[in-house]
Amino acid sequence: KLSHRLGTIAGLVTDGARVADIGSDHALLPVYLVSKGQCPSAIAGELNQGPYEAARRQVREAGLSQKVDVRKGNGMAVVTPGETDTVTIAGMGGHLIATILEEGRVAGKLEQVKELVLQPNVGEDAVRHWLTEHGWALMEERILEEDGKIYEVLRATRVEDAALHNGELYKALHLPVQANSLISDDEAVELIYRFGPYLLAEPNEVFYLKWDSELRKMDRICTQMEQSGADEAIVRAKQFRLEMAQIEEVL
Ligand code: SAM
Repeated sequence: KLSHRLGTIAGLVTDGARVADIGSDHALLPVYLVSKGQCPSAIAGELNQGPYEAARRQVREAGLSQKVDVRKGNGMAVVTPGETDTVTIAGMGGHLIATILEEGRVAGKLEQVKELVLQPNVGEDAVRHWLTEHGWALMEERILEEDGKIYEVLRATRVEDAALHNGELYKALHLPVQANSLISDDEAVELIYRFGPYLLAEPNEVFYLKWDSELRKMDRICTQMEQSGADEAIVRAKQFRLEMAQIEEVL
């Protein structure tokens, strides 16, 4: 049985897609997708020797060596253009995910890929920025809690005019919301990148839990900066407090 987090990712992969899971560790996701018949075949990509061997073992033990190909290499280097419909990248920071996607794009590895399912552990805004800037339309978002940690999962596909799609999506939220708002139009767009347009449009309990805890974290950091007494830290804390007020205004 798959964890709630990996199960949510699997749930966003289109049925019948040939999938490449980059940074697959134990290859749990591709083994699940193929053994269940949701995907006909999969590639599990791993950069590091230990996880690569663990993935190979997992695939062998599942009796799926014919259908799940475990490959060692950096990011999308393990994929040949045309052999993959869906790329999944999960359990890494958003900046690393965006870097892997960008290197893959430059190398032409994404040209025939139709779908991306991404689960950044932090820095979700970096992933949303990369998608918007490179012709990918955000189609679905999920937020979930598992073992006291909160995760976001994003699904993107190619559309004719992704910039327009995402622009409309972001505009539809009509931020800032108040007349005497603390939030400028540019800042409003940036906030939507942080919150996630779908998550913000239909916030659930986990969404509020996440942002309450983020605000508490930011408050602790501000207090430390203010107590340090250093001019630079106090200026930075002031900016941080404004950011917090903007987040609170949206929530
Ligand atoms: N995707 C799995 C999941 O979500 O449960 C595993 C996540 S694990 C925390 C991150 C994995 O990504 C590690 O096994 C690491 O070796 C691998 N990794 C990190 N950078 C990578 C890269 N540039 N290319 C391929 N794999 C990478």
